[in-house]
Amino acid sequence: MEKRKVADCRKMPSDSNCSVTIAGREEELMPLVVHHATTVHGHKDTPELREEIRKNLTDES
Ligand SMILES: [Zn+2]
Repeated sequence: MEKRKVADCRKMPSDSNCSVTIAGREEELMPLVVHHATTVHGHKDTPELREEIRKNLTDES
């Protein structure tokens, strides 16, 4: 079984107290996390944002 990646919003640089976590394969995860970051947190969809998100992905335990 392929390990899933987890994006934990509590670890993202953000001024909101967001506790959302999203899990899945990286290629499934990225569009969802980018969508969340842009719509909920008002971030711009930039290569820098995607890089920041990718850095904060952890392996599901
Ligand atoms: Zn969030």
